[in-house]
Amino acid sequence: MQQHADTLRSRGDQIGFVPTMGFLHEGHLSLMRKAREDNNTLVVSIFVNPTQFGPGEDFEDYPRDLERDSDLCREVGTDILFFPSAAEMYPENFRTTVNVSGLTQVLCGKSRPTHFQGVTTIVAKLFAIVKPHRAYFGLKDYQQYRMISLMAKDMNMDLEVVGLPTVREPDGLAMSSRNTYLSNEERRSALSLYSSLAAADRMVREGITEVKEIETGVREIIESESHTRIDYVEIVDPQELAHIDRIDGRALLALAVNVGQTRLIDNVLIGENA
Ligand code: AMP
Repeated sequence: MQQHADTLRSRGDQIGFVPTMGFLHEGHLSLMRKAREDNNTLVVSIFVNPTQFGPGEDFEDYPRDLERDSDLCREVGTDILFFPSAAEMYPENFRTTVNVSGLTQVLCGKSRPTHFQGVTTIVAKLFAIVKPHRAYFGLKDYQQYRMISLMAKDMNMDLEVVGLPTVREPDGLAMSSRNTYLSNEERRSALSLYSSLAAADRMVREGITEVKEIETGVREIIESESHTRIDYVEIVDPQELAHIDRIDGRALLALAVNVGQTRLIDNVLIGENA
């Protein structure tokens, strides 16, 4: 892969890169189409990264379908599909980690304390292997996008990190490879994530600025559905991801909810010009 990247770069090609864990859906494909548009080479990686799963999480069960994924990659014009093995990525005696301090411990970091270090470490490695000019991430995983942007900036990584909007099912459910775990009944309950975000957006547009009041409204909508157990509902500053008390400009409303056994996340930007 590194040799391919060198060859492409030496002939002046621009490399667009979309890292994924596979089981591709429209969310992934939207990133790939944009990368295809902006660059003359599109590299997609599929790697279910063991170090970003905590003990007892779904690493073993995470859905995988490389054959279907490679067909979809071909359809959107992927030039290189990179799918390394865990043994190649983490050989014996691997000992380096990349950690964006502070941001790993908020929002999803509270209940997944080792997750983001796993993400930033693997993405740093993938950047060093694929050598992209631009890398594309979904705002569905807003905290991840923010941390990768900061990592690239702090470490002078010579690439642009691009964040793209969340792609949703027609009824509003954010697309996720994990949606496949949901029963029909759970899927209906899961719609409350989107409806609560939409309700919060309406509250802010109507002039409510008290964060507690909005968070309570969101919690009530989600808790009124069966099978839902809230991990967090938080309104934070979109740059630092720090808690705020009052909406004054743009803010991020982020949430994580267990629906049955499945942990789902979603978010929306609210407030001025959102
Ligand atoms: P994953 O395979 O879940 O690691 O996701 C790979 C990339 O796709 C990440 O940048 C995600 O943020 C992005 N992504 C996942 N779901 C969506 C979605 N519904 N809309 C937009 N991007 C998404």
